[in-house]
Amino acid sequence: MSEETKLREDICKLAKSIFDRGLTGGSSGNISARLSDGTLLMTPTGSSMGFLDPARISHLDTDLRLLSGDEPTKEVPLHSAFYETRSGTGAVVHLHSTHSVAWSMLPEVDSDDVLPPLTPYSIMRLGKVKLLPFFLPGDAAMGDAIRGLAGKRSAVLLANHGPVVAGRDLWATVFAMEELEETAKLALLTRGSDPKMLSASDIRRIEQEFPT
Ligand SMILES: [Zn+2]
Repeated sequence: MSEETKLREDICKLAKSIFDRGLTGGSSGNISARLSDGTLLMTPTGSSMGFLDPARISHLDTDLRLLSGDEPTKEVPLHSAFYETRSGTGAVVHLHSTHSVAWSMLPEVDSDDVLPPLTPYSIMRLGKVKLLPFFLPGDAAMGDAIRGLAGKRSAVLLANHGPVVAGRDLWATVFAMEELEETAKLALLTRGSDPKMLSASDIRRIEQEFPT
């Protein structure tokens, strides 16, 4: 199986898994992944993650022009900003995951480090996650906000909208996204009950042993 065929199938398989578990609903959410020639595969605009057709995935050249397939998601700027600013980015995933969106709205969150240090895995897989303000869907300013982070963050949470995660390959990116959503869920479950968080020294040890 060619690299491209495999990646098309993996996008559809992982998207369906995400949809079936309720991590994004309706026609929300989008995925992109980079082929070794630098071109991108991206989920089409208006498509549902649960019902993607590998043959209709958008294929974009390195200047983001459509080579084949359906028109890509209108969130292209969100994706391209990560490929432009983070070398080694192999995939980008954006979802409208309920717990992450709920967490983005709460008054106590730290916009520079939006997830509380509840488990080692969010620190290992995501590092510090930046909360970005609300933008209209498809607004190119979202891409500018991500470019403004100069490649230093692999994950952001768009306020009142949803998370965006970049990673070295598709599988690692989806797993990191799941960690983000689960951490937001834990944060909501433990909110107001004074949970015992990881200490600053625990966090330092995790960062040293498992650099992101
Ligand atoms: Zn969105």
